[in-house]
Amino acid sequence: MNRLLAPLFALLLAMPATLYAQPVGYALVGGLLIDGSGAEPMPNSIVLIRDDRIEAVGSIGRLPVPQDYQLVSTEGMTVMPGLWDPHVHLLYNGHPDFGHWFSSYADRFADVTIPASALQFLMAGVTSVRDLAVNTDDIISVRKRITAGEIPGPTIYTAGSALVPGGAASYRPHVMPVENPRDAVRKTRAQINAGVDIIKVLQANEGFQEELNAIVETAHAAGIRVTAHGRTDEELRVALRAGVDEIQHIGIDTPTLPEDILDMVQQRIAGGTPLYWNPTVGTVLNRDELAADPEWLDDPKNFAGLPQDIELDIRQAISNAEFTTLPRSASDIIKRKVQNLGERGVIFTFGSDEGTFGHPASEATWRELEAWVFELGMDPVAAIKWATADSAAYMGVGDEVGTVTPGKLADVIAVKGSPLRHFSTLREPAMVFKNGKRVR
Ligand SMILES: [Zn+2]
Repeated sequence: MNRLLAPLFALLLAMPATLYAQPVGYALVGGLLIDGSGAEPMPNSIVLIRDDRIEAVGSIGRLPVPQDYQLVSTEGMTVMPGLWDPHVHLLYNGHPDFGHWFSSYADRFADVTIPASALQFLMAGVTSVRDLAVNTDDIISVRKRITAGEIPGPTIYTAGSALVPGGAASYRPHVMPVENPRDAVRKTRAQINAGVDIIKVLQANEGFQEELNAIVETAHAAGIRVTAHGRTDEELRVALRAGVDEIQHIGIDTPTLPEDILDMVQQRIAGGTPLYWNPTVGTVLNRDELAADPEWLDDPKNFAGLPQDIELDIRQAISNAEFTTLPRSASDIIKRKVQNLGERGVIFTFGSDEGTFGHPASEATWRELEAWVFELGMDPVAAIKWATADSAAYMGVGDEVGTVTPGKLADVIAVKGSPLRHFSTLREPAMVFKNGKRVR
């Protein structure tokens, strides 16, 4: 050995192993823990992450931190499970004109716009999403690339292409027209074979009843749920008659839900079949704020992952858009319908309808949560449970993910300050861990 290097080598040998070994795990130390179970928040928490799992959870002075773990201070922060958003549209990036979006970018959804939304969600601390209308091949290919670690993104569940009544439907890349009941069976099976997690139906009308019945029967025989778009009373009646599992949206075109619909809801639940409903109120309740102050739409993070031509196109469309405010009654209508459905035993699922105008992936989820807490009066700890543990349980993976508890997959975020008072603390998380890897 070189005479000059020998003392240095001896010094290195004398150093404790921790100084130059790779960390074998992370220790998140100091923050307030909201674990997603609905439990009381715990101050001065310690969360140990090893490999892809949460290894242990405790508090300072009680849970020892292994010496070879990398210490990550969460002082002044809130530590939470990664959020879920079970109603998203990754192919959109907030452009106000769907027709223009489809005709310009359909061949770039798989390589550009869906991965951009996936990246924005992950950076926003949303570690699992469910996409409810997107070309099946596109979303399945992006999901494979994320799972293989080729591109960053949340865990993706999806309905793939939405099934719609055939005939007059003009070409849209995210729907699959159904011509008759036999075609409904065939296409439902094709979707399930392609790997979708749920079947989505759009624009069901009275003439589509037999087709929708066939879709539900075929999906249920394969153990797959069916969800229907439900902004109009006609859509709701057809969907409830067919026995769909979950309804999307709350319509604001009528002031109340008619008694016959509420009776159908009540009878079904009384008969022992739960009914799930994903209201997506943020796109409505946040519209006045957007109209008053569209500046936040200019935030560069809303365009993360997009090439310059698409970013420019969206920015121009936003600057030319007419910001219409809603009648004051819209908020009252939503509150009344949510209350009426809740009284009849509906189980609400969480979702933001991300991708539509004013709801880019980097913002949609926390804005939806904020609308529930500050407009509809939901308890914030319950809201976090709803957007984490409850969403995971509904998707059938509640034993694997959704809370910050030992043994679960380490989808964990930390935000500065407290979402118990300000949901906007979730706007830019300080840290995001996905399957135990720190990605932000
Ligand atoms: Zn939607």
